[in-house]
Amino acid sequence: MKLRLQPIRVFCFHEVSEESNGSNDWMPTEQLKRMLLQIQDEGYVFISFKEAYRHICNDCVRTRKYAVLTADDGLQCQLELLPWFEENKIPITFCLNVTSPKQEKCGRPYRQWYHMEDEKTEKQFAKRLYISEKELDALDSKMVSYALHGYNHDESAVEITLDELQRDIEGCIERYGQDKHYVPFYVYKYGTHNADTDEVVRRNKLVPVLSDGLWNYNDGKLIHREILEYIYRTTCQ
Ligand SMILES: [Zn+2]
Repeated sequence: MKLRLQPIRVFCFHEVSEESNGSNDWMPTEQLKRMLLQIQDEGYVFISFKEAYRHICNDCVRTRKYAVLTADDGLQCQLELLPWFEENKIPITFCLNVTSPKQEKCGRPYRQWYHMEDEKTEKQFAKRLYISEKELDALDSKMVSYALHGYNHDESAVEITLDELQRDIEGCIERYGQDKHYVPFYVYKYGTHNADTDEVVRRNKLVPVLSDGLWNYNDGKLIHREILEYIYRTTCQ
């Protein structure tokens, strides 16, 4: 068997805590840890997103099974896990938008899940929910990278025009493009995309990233991800 044919698996998760937020994008913290340790027990070595992409594009021979971990939406609970990720040699990519770290608004999905009634409540909640701009700028870890997840967390890439998507991407690059943690991946909100949006993303020298449950072989046009909450709901509960 050609070892290069081994897939690279890219996982993603969102909110973790002790108590459920009632959404499908949540899982218990302990369960996330258990699943990641189990993936390692199955022989996978976690590598950075950038390293995985180099493997996929260059058709590298893979003598080990590789996995990548990504975390969407820039949530405080994800940053709190960083010491644990470092201890367990799991590089982490935070998929960030530009407005959430300002901690003013919560974005469409969280507004719905937490039934926010007014702007004041939303702002207070955003301060607890998101990693702040200050924390992102101060972070200095070789285990961390920042990918792009849209300018804000409202419309998906297919709900806006291609010109708006272009401006969205430019805004993201302007915010994160110079950061030492930056990696050129564009993680679609809500997982929705099409050939035209992929074209705009690639024109900006970014790699489109999906949440479609598939594994990655040696095709660098798109990155596929598996959603850990989905695996948790279907196999662990
Ligand atoms: Zn998201």
